[in-house]
Amino acid sequence: MARLNLKEQLTDAKRNGYAIGAFNIFDCPSARAAVDAADSLKTPILLQTSVGTVKKFGPEELFGMMDLMRKRTAVPVLFHLDHCTEPELAKVCIDTGWDSVMIDLSARPLDENIRITGEIKKYAAVKGVCVEGELGVISGVEEEINAEEGELADYETSLVFLEGTGIDAFAPAVGTAHGVYKKEVKLNYDLVRKLSETTAVPVVIHGGTGLSDEQFARLIACGASKINVSTALKYAYINGLKEYLHGHPEEYDPIKLNSAAEKSVRETVANHIIRFKPKSGGRI
Ligand SMILES: [Zn+2]
Repeated sequence: MARLNLKEQLTDAKRNGYAIGAFNIFDCPSARAAVDAADSLKTPILLQTSVGTVKKFGPEELFGMMDLMRKRTAVPVLFHLDHCTEPELAKVCIDTGWDSVMIDLSARPLDENIRITGEIKKYAAVKGVCVEGELGVISGVEEEINAEEGELADYETSLVFLEGTGIDAFAPAVGTAHGVYKKEVKLNYDLVRKLSETTAVPVVIHGGTGLSDEQFARLIACGASKINVSTALKYAYINGLKEYLHGHPEEYDPIKLNSAAEKSVRETVANHIIRFKPKSGGRI
């Protein structure tokens, strides 16, 4: 099966001054919502799946469901495994049809992170699948991942990591966090810019939920070409349901509930896609 190429998509985004949104979907309505938003805005996106979502449905069922969804549109919709700490599961997703996988061994010692990420890169390359790796600690909570605030990535170690792994997309810890921001976010824009200018590996920003328009625009202007959004979709989904039930307390038609959640997620995804295409465009 020919895979869509993450690195090519991100390189195109970087060249043209926008970022591709990578949205964590978790069921059929959320996947439909994300695909429909991409279709209406004629913009490529990633459907990201957490390890928890893959384990809930099983790789075959989840892939089959998403594959039907993406047939709804002509725009590229890539499937990406997010934050996988289990090399064997990453291989299963690579074999099943995912276009790219993120192997997250950032909690392990650097040499181990480099060695195993590099092994997955070799395994994936044979099947035309791209690999994202992480360096440093992106704090916060994301399903199985629960990281305290820790070390951010630095330029020199980043180069060692890129050289040692050969990865296609790079998620350095630059100050963003998973979940909801509880205090002011300080971002290392310089690292994003330096990596974007001096390497050919696209830079990925995790923890997109809650960043401001100005922060998105500046990250993109510095060269970031993939931005992950997860928590915002979960909030949109649950809030969509809550609001509908509040207005219709006697409603027992699941299709109506389902549609309310879907609409809310679709609007949130569309809103982010629009913010990832800053009008000023271009690099700084
Ligand atoms: Zn993340």
